[in-house]
Amino acid sequence: MDCIFCRIVAGEIPADIVYQDKELLAFRDINPQAPTHILIIPRKHIPSLNDTTGSHRALMGSIVLLARNLAKKEGISERGYRLSISTGPEGGQLVPHIHFHLIGGRKLSDQLG
Ligand code: AMP
Ligand code: ZN
Repeated sequence: MDCIFCRIVAGEIPADIVYQDKELLAFRDINPQAPTHILIIPRKHIPSLNDTTGSHRALMGSIVLLARNLAKKEGISERGYRLSISTGPEGGQLVPHIHFHLIGGRKLSDQLG
């Protein structure tokens, strides 16, 4: 298994896990871009957003709702935050296991990239 996020799911690499259930895992980014920087991933290996289908509808919805809940828990709901999915080389995706970045706790750039 050479996917670093699958290895976190398997417990082979340590991570600062903030939430887990049977489908999802959320942990703090090792190189945080803001006071709150959490990655939310499905346990199942899906390489990128391009690899999702209609069968992932509920999973993707669960991730977005988890992001909302974690933002509240982090105390950034009202001030605001960003939820993003980098996809492919030009999207800046470095880890080929789909992940949502939940970023907040400071004023983010008005530019998306
Ligand atoms: P992306 O550029 O969207 O693929 O983002 C990958 C993210 O994963 C980056 O923000 C990295 O800092 C983060 N990352 C890489 N390895 C780890 C790790 N072992 N634990 C936590 N975050 C990681
Ligand atoms: Zn993986």
